[in-house]
Amino acid sequence: MRHAIVAGNWKMHKTYAETHKLLDELIEKLPAGKEVEVIVAPTFTNLGSAVAHLEGTNIQVAAQNMHQAEGGAFTGEISAQMLKSVGVDIVILGHSERRQYFHETDAILADKVNTALRHDMRVIYCIGEELKDRESKQYLNVIFNQLKDGLFHLSKEQWKNIVIAYEPVWAIGTGMTASPDQAQEIHAFIRQEIERKYDKTVAENTSILYGGSVKASNAKEIFSKPDVDGGLIGGAALIADDFCTIVECC
Ligand code: PEP
Repeated sequence: MRHAIVAGNWKMHKTYAETHKLLDELIEKLPAGKEVEVIVAPTFTNLGSAVAHLEGTNIQVAAQNMHQAEGGAFTGEISAQMLKSVGVDIVILGHSERRQYFHETDAILADKVNTALRHDMRVIYCIGEELKDRESKQYLNVIFNQLKDGLFHLSKEQWKNIVIAYEPVWAIGTGMTASPDQAQEIHAFIRQEIERKYDKTVAENTSILYGGSVKASNAKEIFSKPDVDGGLIGGAALIADDFCTIVECC
């Protein structure tokens, strides 16, 4: 069901001790009584201990990636079953850094989505155009193709476990944020395309997050847009005060 979500993607940051320090700060400082689902995505090595540490709190833990195979000879990879075995049932898939540096295509990502859903996991699926796509005015096509190739094979029922994160690549870690109106344009477009493929119920029930240089200072304006249901936060998720302010804005 559509609801407000703020998720922190910690990327390849924070040792074991640093992870637990940040978790303690979040437990202490996160605003109480907000109707916002708060998710943190530490590195693989700290997932199990983060789940244990957060037991009894409202903070959920997500993985930043997983492999599409059930298991086998895939050195260095992590399966859905392994994530579930340490209490993780949310996974971020399709982050632009995975697409760019690890050559994850929409076809690979569609496989990963299928595997995650088979294991009853929720997926935060990232899509977004590069600067060249925006400059050439191809961005809506790029976003549509990412949706179609990564997610439009799913059934209506399966969409209950899908959250979309619109993350323009040119805004990730660059300090350049999409304006609230630019974010709203794309979020409305994504919702419209989901409705066109499925129906209004699926479209209205899908949470669509914005990601790309969201900060304590700009979150409120971005989150005020009607089709923006929250954010996927990178850099600002590593600083407890900033992340808590962003949650407060949602
Ligand atoms: C991200 O990596 O998902 C992200 C949005 O990063 P940042 O907030 O640092 O731009």
